[in-house]
Amino acid sequence: MDGIKGRVILMTEVKTIAVIGLGLIGGSILKGLKDKGFELLGIARRKETIDQALTEKIISEGSTNLQLACKADIIFVCTPINKTVETIKLLSSKVKPETIITDVASLKGEILDFINANQYPVRFIGGHPMAGTENKGLNASCENLFEAAKWVLTPSKWSNQEDLIKISSVIEKLGTKIVIADPVLHDKAVALISHMPLLLSQSLFGLVENYPDKDVSGLAFILASSGFRDMTRLASTNPELSRDMIIQNKENVIMAVKELKKYLDEFEKELIENEENFVKVIENIAFQRKKMFSPEGKNVL
Ligand code: NAP
Repeated sequence: MDGIKGRVILMTEVKTIAVIGLGLIGGSILKGLKDKGFELLGIARRKETIDQALTEKIISEGSTNLQLACKADIIFVCTPINKTVETIKLLSSKVKPETIITDVASLKGEILDFINANQYPVRFIGGHPMAGTENKGLNASCENLFEAAKWVLTPSKWSNQEDLIKISSVIEKLGTKIVIADPVLHDKAVALISHMPLLLSQSLFGLVENYPDKDVSGLAFILASSGFRDMTRLASTNPELSRDMIIQNKENVIMAVKELKKYLDEFEKELIENEENFVKVIENIAFQRKKMFSPEGKNVL
């Protein structure tokens, strides 16, 4: 595990884990931790979600009331991004001082700024699992969603090394590899590898739909096959999540769009003026891209 030393520290055992927000990510955490020796609690907004989680036996107790989470040693806040801070704020006055709180929000900068601003001194470590799908809700969750995925942790000023080790040992049970990162750097990096693919997928679909020559656009949609399907898979991402990710990381996304425009201009210039060089560039990209992912599609870096 990157950046965590001193695993021999004597720690109190993690017995009870609460997950707040039983959707794709929260549900997958519970399914992945099932039968791993923890007491699992679930908190959702709607009672039907709790009933479903109880029926599926992924929690032993559930509630629509946050108070239930206060029994836990570790709390995962898995609500939509725009409810994360509000949920941590509500928890801060209720939890035991030794409870560790983490989240899974796709953006870390603002949340860590809020926590570090010391109004709510909870033992918080930010988190972001680098796995997901375009679907939402408990029905979309699965036990192996995080297998071989990276899981970013961004410690706050209220957390310590023991908390980091404790939380890492739980998250690693999901089959993930922990990466400790600075929240600001994290948000810039995910603009490039999460939010730009989303925006490009949406733009490509929009381009074909709005292409000036309607005969071309109409035929293109009829002929579209695996290449267009794969490139635009993310365009069907749950719009609420898509909106939150792109708008909340707007500054970094706009910076990346500006760089992409420059890159595309260079690409176009090479294609027009120097085909030989253009071919070298795309050969190198194909080589690097093949090296980066295993045949099963996992990032090997
Ligand atoms: P999701 O499938 O829509 O699940 C969110 C769940 O939160 C819903 O099931 C909803 O519960 C619940 N909820 C909403 N407001 C709530 C509240 N005020 N209190 C308690 N529960 C509430 O969304 P998701 O994809 O799991 O995303 C959750 C978080 O994971 C977000 O912060 C997102 O940035 C992050 N994330 C997502 C992905 C991805 O690919 N989707 C990847 C990495 C990280 P009810 O069923 O009761 O309405």
